[in-house]
Amino acid sequence: MTSENDFSFADRVTKCVLGHYEKCISRRGKPRMEREWTLLAAVVMVKRSDGELNLKTVALGTGTKCIGQSKMSKNGDVLYDSHAEVIARRAFLRFLYHEISLVYNGEESEVFVLPASKAHNQCLLKNNVEFQFFMSSTPCGDASIFPMMPEDTFSRIGEICVNIPSQTNSLEEEQIKQTAEEPVAKKFKTDDGICESSCERLQFPEKDNVKHLTDSSFALAEDIFRTGAKCVPFGKQDTYEPGINYHCINALRIKPGRGDRTLSMSCSDKIARWNFLGCQGALLSHFLFEPIYFKSFIIANCPFSVDAAHRALMGRFETQAESLHLPDGYFMNKPNILQSSLSFADNKNNSKTGNLKENVIPCSTTIIWYKKGENATEEIAVNGRKQGATLKSINNCSAHLSISCKALYSEFKRVKEIASKVNKLPLTLKSLEDDSSSGQTYYSHKIAAMKYQDIWNQLLKGTLKTWVKKPKEFMQFL
Ligand SMILES: [Zn+2]
Repeated sequence: MTSENDFSFADRVTKCVLGHYEKCISRRGKPRMEREWTLLAAVVMVKRSDGELNLKTVALGTGTKCIGQSKMSKNGDVLYDSHAEVIARRAFLRFLYHEISLVYNGEESEVFVLPASKAHNQCLLKNNVEFQFFMSSTPCGDASIFPMMPEDTFSRIGEICVNIPSQTNSLEEEQIKQTAEEPVAKKFKTDDGICESSCERLQFPEKDNVKHLTDSSFALAEDIFRTGAKCVPFGKQDTYEPGINYHCINALRIKPGRGDRTLSMSCSDKIARWNFLGCQGALLSHFLFEPIYFKSFIIANCPFSVDAAHRALMGRFETQAESLHLPDGYFMNKPNILQSSLSFADNKNNSKTGNLKENVIPCSTTIIWYKKGENATEEIAVNGRKQGATLKSINNCSAHLSISCKALYSEFKRVKEIASKVNKLPLTLKSLEDDSSSGQTYYSHKIAAMKYQDIWNQLLKGTLKTWVKKPKEFMQFL
């Protein structure tokens, strides 16, 4: 159960992200006011010192789209999944790579240290640093399936959330109405020039006003909130019956695409995977002594069920997880799941009236932003490529997003080179260098992350056996 302190913390994190979005992100990739909507996600770094918490947005993403199989590229240069959560996590990887490169360069990083012994040339997270993951809406997939209450409204934090019509089922239609008076965020610049925000008339909710729907409330409900994500093949399937039996729960799901089928798992499933393996992925794990787990998942004010979120992001795998043999440093992450009283203005609903904005469509652009030392990088993407990329320029690096697999792999190779130069190459990468038979591709470097692959293979054999994987030929690029 959340406490009042949790609410104040959730509001602080949300304020930090919304203030950053408003002040530090250019208008270019944002939705056109009252005509378009989008989803927002971000990673907030929390540093504890002398009992004080310092919050800073270090990575941010917006987006609602996912491209189908027919548009996939074997060069790793196209971004398939542009849901905000996935963008924010990839942008966060760029932030981490930069901090790791500082460490190997012998410079000061605010995130990592390189211990002299025991860590085998791998970086260690500073013990006063934590990362929180913010989402403007409940993630697509299993976390978005929960009961509507019979009165067709449910109130929380003094605000009214109105249900969507029950015949809708696409991602765009998942968003529902809400009313909230946005507190006025006051922005200021921190020492390093990155915006943060504070809020002068932040009101913390009365605990008793908050109603969470529980799984037992399925029995009381007449209908459920729906997700556009479809069940993976070979697992439980939705019945699409009217009312509460429309969806099954606990299923792994695939994102809907435009036209053809996607191979991208729902955000609920991807986040669940981060709770097992860390959010850093296989490549970055070479440089890290331990995986990086998010401490909390914070969801802005929107229709939400803490039980559904808990079930989707970890609970549905808990029993099977007990039989896993987890390598050192890995564990089943049980993050806090918190909801804020603040809502995101560029969502599908008018945050003042709670009404659906009329004729709004999902914004086609994606914003990618991350902190890079004293500076920051911002890119706008459309259809998995940089906005403005032409057919002519499509094969040029200039058209590639800095968070495509290819660009992340280039960044990985850059950091590897730096570590190699100072004779601090982590053991797993040194073995790969010594083994000339294995080839040097994106795929071979992923496979060489042994601890990571060990747990991932255990999950694929059991808990996540119906997970839809990308074919190997899409990972063989140099
Ligand atoms: Zn999603």
